[in-house]
Amino acid sequence: MHTHLKEKNTGTEHAIEIGSRIWWVGYQIPGDELQCNAYLIEHGDQSVLIDPGSALTFDKTLKKIEEVTDFSNIRYFICHHQGPDITSSLNRIDAMVERKDALIVTHWRAATLLKHYALKNLPIWTVDGNDWKLDLGARVLKFIFTPYLHSPGAFCTFDEDSRTLFSSNLFGGFTEEPSFFAEDESYFESMRPFHEHYMPGKEIVQHALLSIEKEEVQMIAPGHGSIIPEELTGYMIEKLKGLECGLYLMAEKDSDVSHLMELDKMIKGFMSALVLYKDFSDIAHYLCSVAKEILPVKALEFYVKREGEENYICFAPENKYHGETVPKVSFITSVIDNTLEVSSKEADYHYDLVTFDREGKTKHALAIPIDTDGHEKLNAAAIFLLRSETEINDEIKELLARMRLPLSVAIEREKLFHMLEADRNEVYEKSKSDPLTGLYTKCYMNDLAGRLLDNHNREAASGVALIMLDVDHFKSVNDKYGHTTGDTVLKSVGEVIFEQVRRVDIPVRYGGEEFAIFLPVHDIYTASMIAERIRKALGELSFGEGEGDEGFKVTMSAGVAVHIQDESMLELINRADKALYSAKESGRNRSCRAR
Ligand code: GH3
Ligand code: MG
Ligand code: MG
Repeated sequence: MHTHLKEKNTGTEHAIEIGSRIWWVGYQIPGDELQCNAYLIEHGDQSVLIDPGSALTFDKTLKKIEEVTDFSNIRYFICHHQGPDITSSLNRIDAMVERKDALIVTHWRAATLLKHYALKNLPIWTVDGNDWKLDLGARVLKFIFTPYLHSPGAFCTFDEDSRTLFSSNLFGGFTEEPSFFAEDESYFESMRPFHEHYMPGKEIVQHALLSIEKEEVQMIAPGHGSIIPEELTGYMIEKLKGLECGLYLMAEKDSDVSHLMELDKMIKGFMSALVLYKDFSDIAHYLCSVAKEILPVKALEFYVKREGEENYICFAPENKYHGETVPKVSFITSVIDNTLEVSSKEADYHYDLVTFDREGKTKHALAIPIDTDGHEKLNAAAIFLLRSETEINDEIKELLARMRLPLSVAIEREKLFHMLEADRNEVYEKSKSDPLTGLYTKCYMNDLAGRLLDNHNREAASGVALIMLDVDHFKSVNDKYGHTTGDTVLKSVGEVIFEQVRRVDIPVRYGGEEFAIFLPVHDIYTASMIAERIRKALGELSFGEGEGDEGFKVTMSAGVAVHIQDESMLELINRADKALYSAKESGRNRSCRAR
């Protein structure tokens, strides 16, 4: 279809139907790079002329319109902005229009300028005053606000029926010989200068593109350049999103603007590093590389003061920015405290050039106090270690000030991670030992004994044995002497076990009055011997003596098993448990070996 249309376009002498009842009625002035596209939506007597054109092109446009429909069928004249390239034909149109209900459709900001055409017959209907929608009857046009500096009222029109976006300056091309339809991705290069020069900034263009993306756009019909067919719309939208554009690009080198632009680029880079990198060390390295462009930076360290604590957390290359608790660092304290004196506004620009001794050498550093707790207390500092003494000029001050907020967010995040990890370690330490007996917990057993078994799986010589122990008739101890005495007994059992095992063994309180001991031995005889030793040692103790009370004895039974390579921990425990059951069955106060 496109080639066919291209042929038709050779003389641009005729209207061209680009979609169902949508006609291109523009005219290219020979040698003019800013080809103006006018479009006609033929919709009976509610037809719409989009961006009518200039006084230079209107005769040609009118001729094409009349090939499609009678001019009197046009009720709406959409002006996407107030530029003369699309509106200076309005006086002609105003003089021609006979119907009373004809309207100019535009935004109020463009309207304030269009009134200077002193039109007599055509009133203005504003898109913003009419809910950004125009109902033609069985066809609705939606308007999308796409403002830019020299046209703050600019907008685009989306025809839901044909899913065509009449995009005005957006997606416009700038070339002497535009093809009627964009042929491939290379059309973007025609778009590039147009947007670099005409759009005020990436953010504004991106904002407009986001609204456009909400519609299912099938074709883009811009006010200048080539029409973009469906297969290229996605590509062009994506490319345009990433295009740097705006005033900065026009700035001369070394001017204030280009200087600000550089700064802006650094900050943007830093911000995206914050968002993209999960690891604080990545952020620190990026920051360091940015700072190196303006300072003789050797390394970057961070110190965070924790509420109510003397120690600092230090994030430095030496600890891979993982955070390490270090003793109070006097020069950091003074950096932070000094800044407490200055007001929060000045604090943004506050820095200290400090010298301090480290490993017998005098070091120079630039210290920036940072508030990580949201405006209340300055409790951290970024320290740029310098190769040499340096002067801090306005540029550096500005950069430091602008880095401060994102940096504080990053450090706060890191501080939190560090504290969470410290808490986790504390909880883990606690979870390692059982509070009553001091033996390891089942949770820790899984960890530690698991490693022992893994080791045996890899290396046959590193055998592991397991003793399962259970106090005999313990329920009756509780029943007769009370729970507290029962606890005392269990505590003693723990002590007995602890005394009888070696440092390399893993004694565990497995359950209420059940115990497990993992031993790095590969023969069942040694393991049985230890089990017997424990049993006998317990048998020698007496409990509940004194004040006329006769003491009582406690016995226990044991099951012993040796780990078979590749056997799971559970399987090993089950075998030892079975042996324990045999010991109970055969009379208690004894140990049995598993098969
Ligand atoms: P068996 O010889 O068959 O092992 O008899 P048992 O009475 O020892 O066995 P059972 O498993 O029926 O009872 C164990 C008792 O241990 C029940 C429970 O109340 C008690 N127990 C579990 N944990 C504790 C504890 O921490 N302190 C005290 N005092 N008693 C506990
Ligand atoms: Mg039991
Ligand atoms: Mg028991």
